Amino acid sequence: MDIDAAREVARRAVERRDLPLLGQNPNVTYRMGIMGGTFDPIHNGHLVAAEQAFDDLNLDVVVFMPAGSPAFKQNKRVTMGEDRYAMTLLATSDNPHFLASRFEVDREGITYTAETLELLSLAYPPNVELYFITGADAIAEVVTWRDAEKIARLAHLVGATRPGYDLAHARNAIMASGLDFDVTYLEVPALAISSSYLRERVTAGQSLRYLTPDAVTGYIHKHHLYGVRPRRYGSTELHD
Ligand code: NAP
Repeated sequence: MDIDAAREVARRAVERRDLPLLGQNPNVTYRMGIMGGTFDPIHNGHLVAAEQAFDDLNLDVVVFMPAGSPAFKQNKRVTMGEDRYAMTLLATSDNPHFLASRFEVDREGITYTAETLELLSLAYPPNVELYFITGADAIAEVVTWRDAEKIARLAHLVGATRPGYDLAHARNAIMASGLDFDVTYLEVPALAISSSYLRERVTAGQSLRYLTPDAVTGYIHKHHLYGVRPRRYGSTELHD
C-alpha cells in the first residue's frame, strides 16, 4: 500500500470513529495505547491491564485492537474476527477512554503489528506517541516478528504480566536483539485470568461470572462459542 492510500485508510477509520481523533493541538504530546491481542475471548484481566496502562503511562486513550489473522496462530483454531471484535466492543463500551477498533480485523491477510503501527504513524501527526500494549509472553517474541526494527522505531512497548512472572526471557531476548526497544513492564494481578481458562470453563459448562463482563458471557451463549452447552438465552441459568 502506498503512503497516500495508507493515510486514506486511516483517515476513514478516524472519520467513522474506529480510531480516536487525536493530535489536534501541535503543542501537546498525546499518548495513544494500542491494546493488541487475539482476545479469544476478552476478559477482565485484559480490561484491568489496559486501565492500569492508561493510569501508569498517562495515556489519552486505549484502543483495543483484536488481531485479524494472528501471525503465530495460522495452525490454531481462532474464533472469527467478527465475534472477537463484537465481544471486545461489548466489554469496552462503558469506559470513556477505551475504544474497540476493527482496524486489524478488517485487514486482509495475516496481521503484522509492524504494518498496523506504520499505518497508525501515517494517520496521526508526530505529536501522537504510540504505546503497543500486550502480554509479556508476546513481548518476549517481538524480536522474531516481521520488521521488528520498525516496531522498535514506531512505538513504545508495554508488557503486561501477572505477579511472579519471570521477565528474564523477555528482557534477554530484547537485549540480545540489539534493537532499541523501549519496553515498560506492568504487573497486573488480574492477569491470572487467561482466555484459555475462560474457554475451558465454557466448554465444561462452568460460570464466567466475574471473569469477563456479563455482556461477553451473553454473547458467547447467544452465538454458541467455545462449545457452550445449549441453554435458553436469557435464562437465569446463564451463569450456573
Ligand atoms: P498470545 O501468544 O496468544 O498471548 C501471549 C500471552 O499474552 C498470553 O498469556 C495472553 O493471554 C497474553 N496477552 C495477549 N494479549 C494481551 C494483552 N493485550 N494484554 C495482556 N495480556 C495479553 O498473543 P497474541 O494474542 O497472539 O498476540 C498478541 C499481540 O501481538 C497481537 O496484537 C498480535 O497481532 C501481536 N503479534 C504480532 C506478530 C507479528 O507481527 N509477527 C506475531 C505475534 C503476535 P490471553 O490468552 O489471556 O490473552
